[in-house]
Amino acid sequence: METYTKDLWVYVETNEDGTARNVGIELLNPGRLLADKQGGKLVAVVIGHNIDAAVKEAAEHDADQVIVVDDPGYKNFLTDTYAKALVTLIEKYKPLSVLIGATPNGREVAPRVSCRLQTGLTADCTAVDIDDENGNVIWTRPTFGGNLMAQIQCPDNRPQMGTVRPGVFKKTAASDSHAEIIKESLPVSNDDIRVKVLEVIKEIGGEKVDLESAEIIVAGGRGVGGPDGFGPVKQLAEALGGVVGASRAAVDSGWIPHAHQVGQTGKTVGPKLYIACGISGQIQHTAGIAGSEVVVAINTDPNAPIFSVADYCVVGDLFEVLPVMTEEICKIKGIPVPPLETSGKKAAAPAEAPKSEPSAPPVWAKDPNHSYHIEMIPPKQASKKLAEDLESFKEKFERFMDHGFTASITDNAMANLAFQTTEVVEALNLKPGPDQVLIHLNTFHEKAELDHMLKSALEHGIRNLLCITGDGSDKMHKLLPEELEAEGCPVTTSVELIRYIRKHYPEFIIGAAFNPYEPEEHEFAKLKRKIDAGAAYVITQPILGKNDMVDRVIREYPDLPIILEVWMSKKLFLLSDVLGYEIPEDTPYDPFETLKEVQEAYPQCGNYLALLGYKTQYPKIEEERAH
Ligand SMILES: Cc1cc2nc3c(=O)[nH]c(=O)nc-3n(C[C@H](O)[C@H](O)[C@H](O)COP(=O)(O)OP(=O)(O)OC[C@H]3O[C@@H](n4cnc5c(N)ncnc54)[C@H](O)[C@@H]3O)c2cc1C
Repeated sequence: METYTKDLWVYVETNEDGTARNVGIELLNPGRLLADKQGGKLVAVVIGHNIDAAVKEAAEHDADQVIVVDDPGYKNFLTDTYAKALVTLIEKYKPLSVLIGATPNGREVAPRVSCRLQTGLTADCTAVDIDDENGNVIWTRPTFGGNLMAQIQCPDNRPQMGTVRPGVFKKTAASDSHAEIIKESLPVSNDDIRVKVLEVIKEIGGEKVDLESAEIIVAGGRGVGGPDGFGPVKQLAEALGGVVGASRAAVDSGWIPHAHQVGQTGKTVGPKLYIACGISGQIQHTAGIAGSEVVVAINTDPNAPIFSVADYCVVGDLFEVLPVMTEEICKIKGIPVPPLETSGKKAAAPAEAPKSEPSAPPVWAKDPNHSYHIEMIPPKQASKKLAEDLESFKEKFERFMDHGFTASITDNAMANLAFQTTEVVEALNLKPGPDQVLIHLNTFHEKAELDHMLKSALEHGIRNLLCITGDGSDKMHKLLPEELEAEGCPVTTSVELIRYIRKHYPEFIIGAAFNPYEPEEHEFAKLKRKIDAGAAYVITQPILGKNDMVDRVIREYPDLPIILEVWMSKKLFLLSDVLGYEIPEDTPYDPFETLKEVQEAYPQCGNYLALLGYKTQYPKIEEERAH
């Protein structure tokens, strides 16, 4: 390995007016700690044109040195020029580690720089530290849809690089600068520029939402009930001089633009005050608000998980609570109550969609208590041992078919690109038994790919589908509503997918996914929409025994075949986020005991075995079936 200094660099991005973007200054805070632990200097790197203000700010926030590249060629951010400048500087000064803000520009420049330097990059971190044993940076970032926090190290290559989300760290107070300012001249040559900036358009549709530097955020979730429901949220935000945030559920419903989304796939925020209105507090949302100083939550459900992260908990209807808060705040501030943009009432329920003809029930539904669905995960496209994975898939599949089980084959969950069921069936020349294969189908396929897959499934005698609203990555293609003949619908959900397939491919028998841990009324309304669209059976999320929501499904839909998912991994704690409460890692768990309890409580239902161990657990299921 080449020789590197012990210095830690923070790239301080600049605004158009030459000031520093908040995240760069925020990163000088953990940067100081890491640099001290590394035993080197904390160096801020500022690139741009007329950037004295940013240089001054960096110098006043603990940097030992500020390396400045100030040149008209850097007036506009261009990935080519900025990446080249950073690479040149890093090659010259050899820092041990580099922190970059995970802003749109930071996310664009950081991978290019790391790639050219042939080193690793951990993107989108929420914490950084130094490993006391080996001195490497420990980069912490959410993974598996926010359900786990991964700690990553880069032991072999230098510099160690990572992007860190804005709002995760707080700026320290400014102090007198003792920083050494080093000016570097790196003029931009025309050969460096492959992209020409013709015009800078600052805002699209007038929507500028600076959640990351907001000191006060009032956010609305699905509990606001519709676009109008954001009226009182906006009113309170205005009275407080704050910014409006939203949960993904509200954004996905088309009630407010994505620019307002807070959370794992939205913005990470660190305001002094965060007021969550009608937000349940799922991990993917709360991951984005961990840096808030004070959290106030307003929710009708006293058991809403948001209350476990809130400093002040208001159990109540946001439509009653918010107007009172707004009025009181205006009284204290001596200002008039801002006008309510809308009626403030919940939106009327969407017009009932036409009902679809129900399909014939699947074969297994006639005898569901003897039906086992066994989850199968198709090989990942990037697998290094693909031939082996395919062989093992084939072995399991054929054994399941021989013993009369249903293979429930998952789709690309969490943007983890895996082969589609039909591709594997074709490639391995598999022979699905009647109603013995069920394909999970997400909403993030290309339309042509979807049609191809459906046709191929029918050709191979597969007619069972479980339609799921795709929640992979924002970067993945998502079927557009108009592609599924659902014009006017803000986003494509499993409902539109079910309706489309029932209309064009009536041979399929489609299942609805049901989550007994979602807010009850909301989940039941969704189930009704899925059934009206043509869903003919239900598969739940894992249940651990008797469950009130399942009881209600059975009461309300006595003829509906139900498959209850049972968690067969001993790692019960992985279910914490699904269940909405923390399960300690060392909790003992006997999957077969749970399976027995679920079967005793619901003898009329089938079972979906999630993460069943093929070598150890599957033989027991085979044996049980044989008796
Ligand atoms: C990969 C992935 C990434 C994700 N990224 C994000 C993300 O970045 N941000 C995000 O927010 N989510 C994200 N999610 C989704 C997340 O899991 C939740 O589905 C989402 O946060 C739920 O939004 P919500 O709390 O508004 O809705 P719900 O969970 O439906 O909660 C609504 C709440 O409103 C309450 N309520 C109802 N009526 C009222 C009323 N009148 N007054 C007061 N309270 C009321 C209910 O009790 C309930 O608690 C992600 C999911 C995945 C899988």
